[in-house]
Amino acid sequence: MTDPDMSLRLHNTLSRRLEPFEPLDPDRVGVYACGPTIYGHAHIGNFRTFVFYDLVHRTLEWLGYGVHFVMNLTDVDDKTIAAAAREGLNLERYTAPFAESIMEEADALGIRRFDLYPRATAYIDRMIELVQTLLDRGLAYRTDDGSVYFDISAFPDYGALSGKDLEQGRQGERVAADEYEKDDARDFALWKASKAGDEDVGAAWDAPWGRGRPGWHLECSAMSLAEVGETLDLHLGGEDLIFPHHEDEIAQSEGATGRPFVRTWLHVRHLRVEGEKMSKSLGNVVTVRELMEEGISPAAIRHQLLSAHYRSELNFTREGLEASARAITRLVDFADRLASSAAEGPGGDDLREAVERARIRFREAMLDDLNVQEAMASLFIFMREANPLVQHSGSAARADAIAFLESTNEVLGLLALGRESRVVDPELEAWVEARVRERDEARAARDWERADALRDELEARGVRLEDGPSGTRWTWSGAGIAAG
Ligand code: AMP
Ligand code: ZN
Repeated sequence: MTDPDMSLRLHNTLSRRLEPFEPLDPDRVGVYACGPTIYGHAHIGNFRTFVFYDLVHRTLEWLGYGVHFVMNLTDVDDKTIAAAAREGLNLERYTAPFAESIMEEADALGIRRFDLYPRATAYIDRMIELVQTLLDRGLAYRTDDGSVYFDISAFPDYGALSGKDLEQGRQGERVAADEYEKDDARDFALWKASKAGDEDVGAAWDAPWGRGRPGWHLECSAMSLAEVGETLDLHLGGEDLIFPHHEDEIAQSEGATGRPFVRTWLHVRHLRVEGEKMSKSLGNVVTVRELMEEGISPAAIRHQLLSAHYRSELNFTREGLEASARAITRLVDFADRLASSAAEGPGGDDLREAVERARIRFREAMLDDLNVQEAMASLFIFMREANPLVQHSGSAARADAIAFLESTNEVLGLLALGRESRVVDPELEAWVEARVRERDEARAARDWERADALRDELEARGVRLEDGPSGTRWTWSGAGIAAG
């Protein structure tokens, strides 16, 4: 299947090193990503993480792997329950619109659909089974109120992912532990006994040890086990999830299956806004929805979210967004010039060489721990080099350059989105409208040569035409640049 030379290296949080990526089955790379808690609109920080998931997904496919990619939706936890209770709605009613709005925004940002979006509430049986297994294996204990906790002292590897030394600070936590019914403050809930509020919003289920609901960490263990398998090739999340969420997932999953849970962990650094941590209390929470309502193009937002390596800080700024918008315009215009240039003949060796250099640089950058910043740099260096060459290059060399741009689009998703975003440009739309009318007239006059030439011109600009009995409809193709 895949090119034997391909050697993707990824930084594994667990080993704290760059490692060659070697999936168990290259035809079915199993990926689980911690998805949004659907209690409100997602913010731009969440979307840094989701766009990164998309980058991982696209890059693996671009490299030739078969991928099974699962991202969950957390629809039952403390936050969803509290928010649903405030609105007097049951969980399902309350969370559904947020799931929908997050999917809409994800689509708008060119995040390709993953294979599956399991919701926690659909996996309660699997969660109960998992808790039972942990009880049977002596890794969990019940308390009098009907809750179940994981017993960390029975799992010696606890702390390996986050590097936390659990012996330190345990003394102080004894006090805190007394407030709960746990044996140790570090023990975490697998199953939480029902409270009145939970019943009100429909967040309570029967289990052998009493009515209640799953703990958040348990949800991800159960869903990844059910939908990806006992051992995942990749598990993704934001850096805030390393501890305790992912540490707890490891304890539960490995405790239950006795097998390694995850081969490679990738964690995305948090995004900041204008240099500050984003938080409700600072009043600087930015959403994709708001930005789009301001008329900022999704392509510029996506470009900005991709502009830093996932383990580096990303500072989301207005100035950066403007620069991103300019970068997208350059990219789309360049692609247009390539497609619509009329140069003929065999010329274009210089262009071909520039394409070859860029191809190598781009690929090397992506293989190097998904260094998208470097990959984008190679793309823009290429455009600078190629710009003066286009007009002297024949169609074969230009087709080569177009193929390269399309292949970068497979990974970055910027060109197609940039074209789609142009729909908001009224001048361009008027131009397309005029050309479409002109073509209709040519057809009516049976001037097929003229009509075909106009079709070619429109297609080179990313316009798709559909001739019907009541005239011609047009749409932006959005699917990379038409080869003209
Ligand atoms: P949540 O909806 O809070 O469960 O978060 C969904 C995902 O977004 C998780 O993977 C978080 O780690 C991630 N996330 C939350 N805040 C940020 C941020 N400021 N920057 C990047 N990722 C974030
Ligand atoms: Zn999770």
